[in-house]
Amino acid sequence: MPRPIEALIHLDALQHNLGIARTCAPDAQVWSVVKANAYGHGLVRAFEGLRSTDGFALLDIEEAKRLRELDWRGPILLLEGIFEQRDLEWCSRLGLWHVVHNDQQVDWIAQHKTEWPHRVFLKMNTGMNRLGFRPHAFRNAWARLSALPQVEEVSLITHFSDADSPKGIAEQVAIFHQHTADLSGERSLCNSAATLRHAQDPAVRGDWVRPGVMLYGGVPDYPEHDADHWGLQPGMTLRSRLIGIQHLQAGDCVGYGSRFTAPGPMRIGVVACGYADGYPRHAPDGTPVLVDGARCRLVGRVSMDMLIVDLDAAPEAQLGSEVTLWGHGPQRDGAPTRLDIDEVAHACGTISYELMCALAQRVPVTVLDPQAA
Ligand SMILES: *Cc1c(COP(=O)(O)O)cnc(C)c1O
Repeated sequence: MPRPIEALIHLDALQHNLGIARTCAPDAQVWSVVKANAYGHGLVRAFEGLRSTDGFALLDIEEAKRLRELDWRGPILLLEGIFEQRDLEWCSRLGLWHVVHNDQQVDWIAQHKTEWPHRVFLKMNTGMNRLGFRPHAFRNAWARLSALPQVEEVSLITHFSDADSPKGIAEQVAIFHQHTADLSGERSLCNSAATLRHAQDPAVRGDWVRPGVMLYGGVPDYPEHDADHWGLQPGMTLRSRLIGIQHLQAGDCVGYGSRFTAPGPMRIGVVACGYADGYPRHAPDGTPVLVDGARCRLVGRVSMDMLIVDLDAAPEAQLGSEVTLWGHGPQRDGAPTRLDIDEVAHACGTISYELMCALAQRVPVTVLDPQAA
């Protein structure tokens, strides 16, 4: 028998979450963001769950090739644009749309020989100060691109730094509108947080939204809101089993560095899951873990292949009991159980994005596709 850890990918959840994005941004088209191997879910798997999208947004030409091999003929957008001039050959060949965020990319396009003019998304830096043209330089870049025979259509794009927080997006939206009011072209502004929180406003929604983490059931503004609040479902379950049980006395310690000391007699379970599987090593004592669907707490340092849980809340747990690190757990007392990845991430001082993306290569993945069943 293989080591009992596995990840489940819930294709129906991806599809459901895409539906939530559509509901939040009626009439807008959706770029499903599948960068970083679809946030750890697997590009090909995510493609199956998200094929009713309007387009896929990603970073690497290799990933774009993959989608074309799967016979995806719809739009594909390179979110960071091209990295060298030769990349334009692939954009022409595969029909890729690409973000243009600096003058060098414009120069490269101007020198590119192609029979098929490109669709480009010209990016404005409205305050995040990552990629994009400054507002005062935007019009000039737009005019230059629009005049190129290599360019079929120029769309306008920006990215929010604070869509998930109280600072909000008003300032960035105002800058974007102020400098694009009389420019033609489709607009794209919203990541997941902005799609969920602000896309009701047509001026913010634009023509295309770009949800990423929400498609996988991650909540961008946790803990202000949780998955239930937004109606999102987990795209991934990480689960394993108990492979050891220990009975401790007061003063006994647990794991490397003896980080946890038993205050009294207790039963602990050893789970076949560690940081080499993608579970965060810095998870503190008390991080929630489900055992047989009961909420237990992690104790002691996470090691490479194992972690340890206090079984106080799961007295019937035994060797082989099912352990849910995040996602859907087994039924308990006749009811379904769930541990949101955001809750685990929050306990570990990080965000669900990082946990999803860190799922390790060695974890076997099973795709659950209720429609194929
Ligand atoms: C990653 C990314 C997104 C998606 O962000 P989420 O917070 O995961 O929704 C959208 N737009 C751009 C430019 C990105 O890089």
